[in-house]
Amino acid sequence: MEKLAIDGGAPVRTEPFPAWPIFDELEERLLIEAVRSGKWGGAGAVTNDAYAAKLPEFEKAFMKLQDASYAVPVVNGTIAITAALQAAGVQQGDEVIIPPYTFIATATAALLYGVIPVFVDVEEDTLLLDPEKVEQAITPRTKAIIAVHIGGAPADLTRLKAIAGKHNLKLIEDSAQAVGAQWEGRGVGAIGDLGTFSFQSSKNVNAGEGGVILTNDRDLWEQAWSFCNVGRIPEGGWYQHERFGLNLRMTEFQAAILLAQMTRVEEQMQLRERNAKLLNEQLGEIGGIQLLKRDPRITRHAWHLYMFKLDSALTAKGGKAEFLKRLQAEGIPASSGYIPLNTNKAVVEKIRQWTGETRINDCPVCERLCEKEVVWLHQNILLADERAMSDIAKAVKKVAGSLA
Ligand SMILES: *Cc1c(COP(=O)(O)O)cnc(C)c1O
Repeated sequence: MEKLAIDGGAPVRTEPFPAWPIFDELEERLLIEAVRSGKWGGAGAVTNDAYAAKLPEFEKAFMKLQDASYAVPVVNGTIAITAALQAAGVQQGDEVIIPPYTFIATATAALLYGVIPVFVDVEEDTLLLDPEKVEQAITPRTKAIIAVHIGGAPADLTRLKAIAGKHNLKLIEDSAQAVGAQWEGRGVGAIGDLGTFSFQSSKNVNAGEGGVILTNDRDLWEQAWSFCNVGRIPEGGWYQHERFGLNLRMTEFQAAILLAQMTRVEEQMQLRERNAKLLNEQLGEIGGIQLLKRDPRITRHAWHLYMFKLDSALTAKGGKAEFLKRLQAEGIPASSGYIPLNTNKAVVEKIRQWTGETRINDCPVCERLCEKEVVWLHQNILLADERAMSDIAKAVKKVAGSLA
Protein backbone atom coordinates (compact mmCIF):
# COMPACT_ATOMS: atom_id res chain seq x y z
CA MET A 1 0.00 0.00 0.00
CA GLU A 2 1.15 3.52 -0.83
CA LYS A 3 2.54 5.41 2.13
CA LEU A 4 0.14 8.06 3.38
CA ALA A 5 1.24 11.69 3.18
CA ILE A 6 0.49 12.01 6.87
CA ASP A 7 3.15 9.34 7.49
CA GLY A 8 5.69 11.06 5.25
CA GLY A 9 4.60 9.63 1.88
CA ALA A 10 4.10 11.73 -1.25
CA PRO A 11 0.78 13.57 -1.22
CA VAL A 12 -1.57 12.77 -4.10
CA ARG A 13 -1.89 16.46 -4.94
CA THR A 14 0.44 19.39 -4.40
CA GLU A 15 -1.25 21.85 -6.78
CA PRO A 16 -3.62 24.31 -5.14
CA PHE A 17 -7.31 24.48 -6.03
CA PRO A 18 -8.75 27.63 -7.66
CA ALA A 19 -8.59 30.72 -5.46
CA TRP A 20 -11.87 32.47 -4.59
CA PRO A 21 -13.27 35.00 -5.40
CA ILE A 22 -12.71 35.01 -9.15
CA PHE A 23 -12.71 38.50 -10.70
CA ASP A 24 -11.10 40.65 -13.36
CA GLU A 25 -11.31 44.11 -14.96
CA LEU A 26 -15.08 43.86 -15.18
CA GLU A 27 -15.51 44.02 -11.39
CA GLU A 28 -13.04 46.92 -11.33
CA ARG A 29 -14.78 48.79 -14.13
CA LEU A 30 -18.29 48.48 -12.65
CA LEU A 31 -17.05 49.42 -9.21
CA ILE A 32 -15.32 52.53 -10.58
CA GLU A 33 -18.52 53.41 -12.44
CA ALA A 34 -20.39 53.21 -9.15
CA VAL A 35 -17.82 55.44 -7.43
CA ARG A 36 -17.87 58.03 -10.22
CA SER A 37 -21.67 58.09 -10.43
CA GLY A 38 -21.80 59.66 -6.99
CA LYS A 39 -24.78 57.40 -6.27
CA TRP A 40 -23.50 55.23 -3.48
CA GLY A 41 -26.42 54.37 -1.26
CA GLY A 42 -29.45 52.16 -1.74
CA ALA A 43 -32.53 53.82 -3.20
CA GLY A 44 -34.78 53.89 -0.16
CA ALA A 45 -37.67 55.14 -2.25
CA VAL A 46 -38.75 53.30 -5.34
CA THR A 47 -39.52 56.45 -7.27
CA ASN A 48 -36.28 58.14 -6.28
CA ASP A 49 -33.94 56.87 -8.94
CA ALA A 50 -31.55 59.71 -8.26
CA TYR A 51 -30.01 57.23 -5.85
CA ALA A 52 -30.13 54.15 -7.96
CA ALA A 53 -28.04 52.94 -10.86
CA LYS A 54 -26.50 49.52 -10.31
CA LEU A 55 -29.10 48.32 -7.82
CA PRO A 56 -32.10 48.23 -10.16
CA GLU A 57 -29.96 46.56 -12.81
CA PHE A 58 -28.80 43.94 -10.34
CA GLU A 59 -32.36 43.34 -9.10
CA LYS A 60 -33.53 42.78 -12.64
CA ALA A 61 -30.73 40.37 -13.48
CA PHE A 62 -31.16 38.41 -10.28
CA MET A 63 -34.94 38.17 -10.55
CA LYS A 64 -34.50 36.87 -14.07
CA LEU A 65 -32.01 34.22 -12.94
CA GLN A 66 -34.37 33.01 -10.21
CA ASP A 67 -37.71 33.51 -12.01
CA ALA A 68 -39.00 36.00 -9.45
CA SER A 69 -41.11 39.14 -9.84
CA TYR A 70 -39.94 41.22 -6.87
CA ALA A 71 -36.67 41.75 -5.05
CA VAL A 72 -35.35 43.62 -2.01
CA PRO A 73 -31.53 43.81 -1.95
CA VAL A 74 -30.18 43.92 1.61
CA VAL A 75 -26.97 44.01 3.64
CA ASN A 76 -26.54 40.27 4.06
CA GLY A 77 -28.21 36.87 4.00
CA THR A 78 -28.83 36.71 7.74
CA ILE A 79 -30.87 39.88 7.81
CA ALA A 80 -32.65 38.79 4.62
CA ILE A 81 -34.11 35.86 6.59
CA THR A 82 -35.06 38.12 9.51
CA ALA A 83 -36.77 40.56 7.14
CA ALA A 84 -38.55 37.76 5.25
CA LEU A 85 -39.98 36.45 8.52
CA GLN A 86 -41.08 39.94 9.56
CA ALA A 87 -42.61 40.55 6.13
CA ALA A 88 -44.49 37.27 6.48
CA GLY A 89 -45.93 38.50 9.78
CA VAL A 90 -44.16 35.94 11.96
CA GLN A 91 -44.01 37.41 15.45
CA GLN A 92 -42.42 36.94 18.83
CA GLY A 93 -43.45 33.57 20.28
CA ASP A 94 -44.45 32.15 16.92
CA GLU A 95 -42.72 28.99 15.79
CA VAL A 96 -40.86 28.41 12.56
CA ILE A 97 -39.84 24.95 11.40
CA ILE A 98 -36.22 24.72 10.27
CA PRO A 99 -33.75 21.93 9.59
CA PRO A 100 -30.83 21.58 12.05
CA TYR A 101 -28.41 21.07 9.16
CA THR A 102 -27.80 24.68 8.15
CA PHE A 103 -25.66 27.71 8.88
CA ILE A 104 -26.49 29.18 12.30
CA ALA A 105 -27.99 32.31 10.72
CA THR A 106 -31.17 30.45 9.74
CA ALA A 107 -31.92 30.10 13.44
CA THR A 108 -30.46 33.36 14.75
CA ALA A 109 -32.29 35.40 12.09
CA ALA A 110 -35.54 34.10 13.59
CA LEU A 111 -34.43 34.39 17.21
CA LEU A 112 -33.50 38.07 16.81
CA TYR A 113 -37.20 38.91 17.00
CA GLY A 114 -38.23 36.10 19.33
CA VAL A 115 -39.38 33.78 16.57
CA ILE A 116 -38.72 30.28 17.88
CA PRO A 117 -37.00 27.74 15.64
CA VAL A 118 -38.40 24.23 15.91
CA PHE A 119 -35.88 21.78 14.53
CA VAL A 120 -37.15 19.04 12.24
CA ASP A 121 -34.67 16.38 11.23
CA VAL A 122 -33.17 16.01 7.76
CA GLU A 123 -33.36 13.14 5.30
CA GLU A 124 -30.58 10.60 5.64
CA ASP A 125 -29.62 10.62 1.96
CA THR A 126 -30.08 14.30 1.01
CA LEU A 127 -29.40 16.26 4.23
CA LEU A 128 -32.48 18.33 3.39
CA LEU A 129 -35.52 19.00 5.59
CA ASP A 130 -37.56 15.78 5.83
CA PRO A 131 -41.12 16.60 4.71
CA GLU A 132 -42.40 13.42 6.41
CA LYS A 133 -41.42 14.88 9.77
CA VAL A 134 -42.53 18.46 9.14
CA GLU A 135 -46.24 17.84 9.60
CA GLN A 136 -45.73 16.14 12.97
CA ALA A 137 -43.93 19.23 14.27
CA ILE A 138 -46.71 21.70 13.41
CA THR A 139 -48.43 23.25 16.42
CA PRO A 140 -51.01 26.06 16.70
CA ARG A 141 -48.05 28.44 17.12
CA THR A 142 -46.33 27.39 13.86
CA LYS A 143 -46.40 30.22 11.34
CA ALA A 144 -43.75 29.33 8.80
CA ILE A 145 -41.41 26.70 7.40
CA ILE A 146 -37.91 27.60 6.27
CA ALA A 147 -36.69 25.18 3.62
CA VAL A 148 -32.90 25.43 3.44
CA HIS A 149 -31.41 24.43 0.08
CA ILE A 150 -28.26 23.19 1.68
CA GLY A 151 -25.20 22.79 -0.52
CA GLY A 152 -27.23 24.20 -3.39
CA ALA A 153 -29.72 21.32 -3.63
CA PRO A 154 -33.34 22.48 -3.44
CA ALA A 155 -35.43 20.86 -0.72
CA ASP A 156 -38.66 19.12 -1.78
CA LEU A 157 -40.53 22.34 -2.55
CA THR A 158 -43.55 20.57 -4.00
CA ARG A 159 -44.25 18.67 -0.77
CA LEU A 160 -43.31 21.55 1.51
CA LYS A 161 -45.52 23.94 -0.41
CA ALA A 162 -48.45 21.53 -0.13
CA ILE A 163 -47.89 21.16 3.63
CA ALA A 164 -47.57 24.93 4.08
CA GLY A 165 -50.75 25.48 2.07
CA LYS A 166 -52.72 22.87 4.02
CA HIS A 167 -51.77 24.40 7.39
CA ASN A 168 -51.82 28.03 6.29
CA LEU A 169 -48.10 28.54 6.89
CA LYS A 170 -45.67 30.69 4.98
CA LEU A 171 -42.92 28.85 3.13
CA ILE A 172 -39.59 30.69 3.13
CA GLU A 173 -36.65 29.38 1.10
CA ASP A 174 -33.23 29.97 2.62
CA SER A 175 -31.46 29.89 -0.73
CA ALA A 176 -28.16 31.34 0.53
CA GLN A 177 -26.31 28.43 -1.09
CA ALA A 178 -28.56 28.00 -4.08
CA VAL A 179 -27.93 30.83 -6.56
CA GLY A 180 -28.97 29.50 -9.96
CA ALA A 181 -30.58 26.33 -8.59
CA GLN A 182 -33.86 25.15 -10.10
CA TRP A 183 -36.68 22.93 -8.95
CA GLU A 184 -38.65 21.37 -11.81
CA GLY A 185 -37.21 23.89 -14.24
CA ARG A 186 -37.95 26.95 -12.16
CA GLY A 187 -35.46 29.08 -10.24
CA VAL A 188 -35.64 28.68 -6.46
CA GLY A 189 -36.37 31.59 -4.12
CA ALA A 190 -39.85 32.60 -5.22
CA ILE A 191 -41.39 29.14 -5.41
CA GLY A 192 -42.26 29.47 -1.74
CA ASP A 193 -43.81 32.70 -0.44
CA LEU A 194 -40.44 34.37 0.04
CA GLY A 195 -36.84 33.39 -0.57
CA THR A 196 -33.55 34.74 0.69
CA PHE A 197 -30.02 34.68 -0.74
CA SER A 198 -26.58 35.57 0.60
CA PHE A 199 -23.69 37.21 -1.25
CA GLN A 200 -21.18 36.75 1.56
CA SER A 201 -17.59 36.02 0.48
CA SER A 202 -17.87 32.23 0.34
CA LYS A 203 -21.09 32.13 -1.68
CA ASN A 204 -21.25 31.26 -5.38
CA VAL A 205 -22.09 34.88 -6.26
CA ASN A 206 -20.52 37.30 -3.83
CA ALA A 207 -19.76 40.92 -3.07
CA GLY A 208 -17.97 40.27 0.21
CA GLU A 209 -21.32 40.77 1.92
CA GLY A 210 -24.86 41.16 0.68
CA GLY A 211 -28.23 39.51 0.41
CA VAL A 212 -31.57 39.69 -1.32
CA ILE A 213 -35.18 38.76 -0.63
CA LEU A 214 -37.28 37.48 -3.54
CA THR A 215 -41.01 36.95 -3.87
CA ASN A 216 -43.77 36.81 -6.45
CA ASP A 217 -46.28 38.37 -4.06
CA ARG A 218 -46.59 42.13 -4.28
CA ASP A 219 -47.89 42.55 -0.73
CA LEU A 220 -45.05 40.49 0.73
CA TRP A 221 -42.58 42.48 -1.35
CA GLU A 222 -44.00 45.73 0.00
CA GLN A 223 -43.79 44.46 3.58
CA ALA A 224 -40.19 43.30 3.07
CA TRP A 225 -39.21 46.48 1.23
CA SER A 226 -40.74 48.60 3.96
CA PHE A 227 -39.02 46.67 6.76
CA CYS A 228 -35.65 47.15 5.04
CA ASN A 229 -36.34 50.84 4.30
CA VAL A 230 -37.05 52.20 7.79
CA GLY A 231 -40.77 51.63 7.39
CA ARG A 232 -41.20 53.80 4.31
CA ILE A 233 -43.75 52.80 1.73
CA PRO A 234 -42.73 52.46 -1.92
CA GLU A 235 -44.50 55.56 -3.26
CA GLY A 236 -44.27 57.52 -0.02
CA GLY A 237 -42.12 60.41 1.15
CA TRP A 238 -38.67 60.24 2.66
CA TYR A 239 -39.85 60.99 6.20
CA GLN A 240 -43.09 59.08 5.87
CA HIS A 241 -42.50 56.02 8.06
CA GLU A 242 -45.72 54.04 8.01
CA ARG A 243 -44.43 50.82 9.56
CA PHE A 244 -41.69 49.59 11.85
CA GLY A 245 -38.51 49.13 9.88
CA LEU A 246 -34.74 49.43 9.81
CA ASN A 247 -32.22 50.54 7.24
CA LEU A 248 -30.99 47.27 5.78
CA ARG A 249 -30.23 48.46 2.28
CA MET A 250 -27.51 47.15 0.00
CA THR A 251 -25.08 49.71 -1.45
CA GLU A 252 -24.37 50.50 -5.09
CA PHE A 253 -20.84 49.15 -4.59
CA GLN A 254 -22.18 45.72 -3.69
CA ALA A 255 -24.58 45.80 -6.63
CA ALA A 256 -21.75 46.74 -9.00
CA ILE A 257 -19.63 43.77 -7.91
CA LEU A 258 -22.63 41.46 -8.02
CA LEU A 259 -23.49 42.49 -11.57
CA ALA A 260 -19.98 41.55 -12.63
CA GLN A 261 -20.04 38.29 -10.67
CA MET A 262 -23.35 37.36 -12.25
CA THR A 263 -21.81 37.34 -15.71
CA ARG A 264 -19.78 34.33 -14.53
CA VAL A 265 -22.67 32.34 -13.07
CA GLU A 266 -23.64 30.29 -16.10
CA GLU A 267 -20.16 29.12 -16.99
CA GLN A 268 -19.23 28.37 -13.37
CA MET A 269 -22.45 26.43 -12.82
CA GLN A 270 -21.80 24.26 -15.85
CA LEU A 271 -18.25 23.58 -14.72
CA ARG A 272 -19.35 22.63 -11.20
CA GLU A 273 -22.04 20.36 -12.60
CA ARG A 274 -19.53 18.57 -14.86
CA ASN A 275 -17.04 18.15 -12.06
CA ALA A 276 -19.68 16.97 -9.58
CA LYS A 277 -20.67 14.32 -12.11
CA LEU A 278 -17.04 13.19 -12.39
CA LEU A 279 -16.75 13.02 -8.62
CA ASN A 280 -19.99 11.04 -8.40
CA GLU A 281 -18.68 8.54 -10.93
CA GLN A 282 -15.27 8.17 -9.35
CA LEU A 283 -16.11 8.39 -5.63
CA GLY A 284 -19.14 6.15 -6.14
CA GLU A 285 -16.81 3.26 -6.91
CA ILE A 286 -14.78 3.53 -3.72
CA GLY A 287 -15.67 1.13 -0.94
CA GLY A 288 -16.97 2.87 2.18
CA ILE A 289 -17.97 6.08 0.35
CA GLN A 290 -21.63 6.92 -0.12
CA LEU A 291 -22.97 9.60 -2.42
CA LEU A 292 -25.91 11.81 -1.58
CA LYS A 293 -29.13 11.20 -3.49
CA ARG A 294 -30.26 13.83 -5.96
CA ASP A 295 -33.99 14.26 -6.49
CA PRO A 296 -34.64 14.19 -10.27
CA ARG A 297 -36.84 17.27 -9.82
CA ILE A 298 -33.65 19.23 -9.05
CA THR A 299 -33.18 20.38 -12.63
CA ARG A 300 -30.26 22.60 -11.62
CA HIS A 301 -28.03 22.05 -8.61
CA ALA A 302 -26.00 25.04 -7.44
CA TRP A 303 -23.22 22.88 -5.97
CA HIS A 304 -22.21 25.35 -3.27
CA LEU A 305 -20.95 22.25 -1.50
CA TYR A 306 -20.09 18.82 -2.77
CA MET A 307 -20.88 16.43 0.06
CA PHE A 308 -20.33 12.72 0.49
CA LYS A 309 -20.70 10.28 3.38
CA LEU A 310 -18.43 7.79 5.10
CA ASP A 311 -19.50 4.28 6.08
CA SER A 312 -18.94 3.26 9.68
CA ALA A 313 -16.06 1.00 8.57
CA LEU A 314 -14.03 4.09 7.61
CA THR A 315 -14.59 5.89 10.89
CA ALA A 316 -14.10 2.98 13.28
CA LYS A 317 -10.40 3.80 13.72
CA GLY A 318 -10.43 7.45 14.72
CA GLY A 319 -13.69 8.88 13.56
CA LYS A 320 -14.36 11.34 10.78
CA ALA A 321 -11.55 13.56 12.12
CA GLU A 322 -8.90 10.96 11.30
CA PHE A 323 -10.26 10.47 7.78
CA LEU A 324 -10.19 14.24 7.22
CA LYS A 325 -6.70 14.64 8.64
CA ARG A 326 -5.36 11.98 6.29
CA LEU A 327 -7.25 13.38 3.29
CA GLN A 328 -6.09 16.93 3.95
CA ALA A 329 -2.50 15.71 4.15
CA GLU A 330 -2.96 14.30 0.63
CA GLY A 331 -3.60 17.86 -0.58
CA ILE A 332 -7.41 17.81 -0.60
CA PRO A 333 -8.96 20.64 1.46
CA ALA A 334 -11.98 18.66 2.63
CA SER A 335 -13.80 19.74 5.77
CA SER A 336 -16.25 18.43 8.33
CA GLY A 337 -19.10 20.93 8.02
CA TYR A 338 -21.84 21.88 10.43
CA ILE A 339 -22.59 20.92 13.99
CA PRO A 340 -26.37 20.35 14.37
CA LEU A 341 -28.08 23.59 15.38
CA ASN A 342 -30.33 21.83 17.87
CA THR A 343 -27.16 21.09 19.85
CA ASN A 344 -25.65 24.57 19.57
CA LYS A 345 -25.44 26.17 23.02
CA ALA A 346 -25.99 29.74 21.86
CA VAL A 347 -29.14 28.78 19.98
CA VAL A 348 -30.51 26.64 22.79
CA GLU A 349 -29.79 29.41 25.33
CA LYS A 350 -31.55 32.01 23.20
CA ILE A 351 -34.59 29.74 22.81
CA ARG A 352 -34.61 29.38 26.60
CA GLN A 353 -34.45 33.16 27.03
CA TRP A 354 -37.46 33.72 24.77
CA THR A 355 -39.59 30.75 25.90
CA GLY A 356 -38.35 29.83 29.37
CA GLU A 357 -37.97 26.26 28.10
CA THR A 358 -34.81 24.27 27.52
CA ARG A 359 -36.39 21.30 25.81
CA ILE A 360 -35.18 21.13 22.20
CA ASN A 361 -36.11 18.23 19.97
CA ASP A 362 -33.43 15.70 19.10
CA CYS A 363 -32.52 15.27 15.46
CA PRO A 364 -30.82 11.87 15.55
CA VAL A 365 -30.26 11.59 11.81
CA CYS A 366 -28.58 14.97 11.57
CA GLU A 367 -26.56 14.39 14.71
CA ARG A 368 -25.14 11.09 13.43
CA LEU A 369 -24.45 12.46 9.94
CA CYS A 370 -22.57 15.47 11.33
CA GLU A 371 -20.54 13.51 13.83
CA LYS A 372 -19.61 10.51 11.78
CA GLU A 373 -20.44 10.69 8.11
CA VAL A 374 -20.59 13.92 6.12
CA VAL A 375 -17.55 15.36 4.36
CA TRP A 376 -17.53 18.67 2.47
CA LEU A 377 -15.71 20.02 -0.53
CA HIS A 378 -16.33 23.75 -1.15
CA GLN A 379 -17.63 25.19 -4.41
CA ASN A 380 -14.26 26.58 -5.59
CA ILE A 381 -12.87 23.03 -5.58
CA LEU A 382 -15.47 22.18 -8.22
CA LEU A 383 -14.05 24.95 -10.40
CA ALA A 384 -10.78 23.06 -10.87
CA ASP A 385 -10.02 20.87 -13.90
CA GLU A 386 -10.80 17.24 -14.63
CA ARG A 387 -7.45 16.05 -13.36
CA ALA A 388 -8.14 17.68 -10.01
CA MET A 389 -11.30 15.57 -9.70
CA SER A 390 -9.24 12.43 -10.36
CA ASP A 391 -6.78 13.59 -7.71
CA ILE A 392 -9.62 13.94 -5.22
CA ALA A 393 -10.85 10.44 -6.04
CA LYS A 394 -7.34 9.01 -5.86
CA ALA A 395 -6.74 10.62 -2.47
CA VAL A 396 -10.09 9.46 -1.08
CA LYS A 397 -9.37 5.94 -2.31
CA LYS A 398 -5.90 5.96 -0.76
CA VAL A 399 -7.20 7.20 2.60
CA ALA A 400 -10.23 4.89 2.57
CA GLY A 401 -7.91 1.98 1.83
CA SER A 402 -5.78 2.88 4.82
CA LEU A 403 -8.76 2.88 7.17
CA ALA A 404 -10.89 0.00 5.90
C1 LIG B 1 -24.39 32.04 4.34
C2 LIG B 1 -25.69 31.55 4.84
C3 LIG B 1 -26.58 32.38 5.54
C4 LIG B 1 -26.22 33.75 6.02
O1 LIG B 1 -25.83 34.64 5.05
P1 LIG B 1 -24.85 35.86 5.45
O2 LIG B 1 -24.82 36.66 4.18
O3 LIG B 1 -23.53 35.26 5.79
O4 LIG B 1 -25.46 36.59 6.57
C5 LIG B 1 -27.81 31.86 5.88
N1 LIG B 1 -28.16 30.62 5.59
C6 LIG B 1 -27.33 29.78 4.94
C7 LIG B 1 -27.79 28.40 4.63
C8 LIG B 1 -26.06 30.21 4.56
O5 LIG B 1 -25.23 29.36 3.95
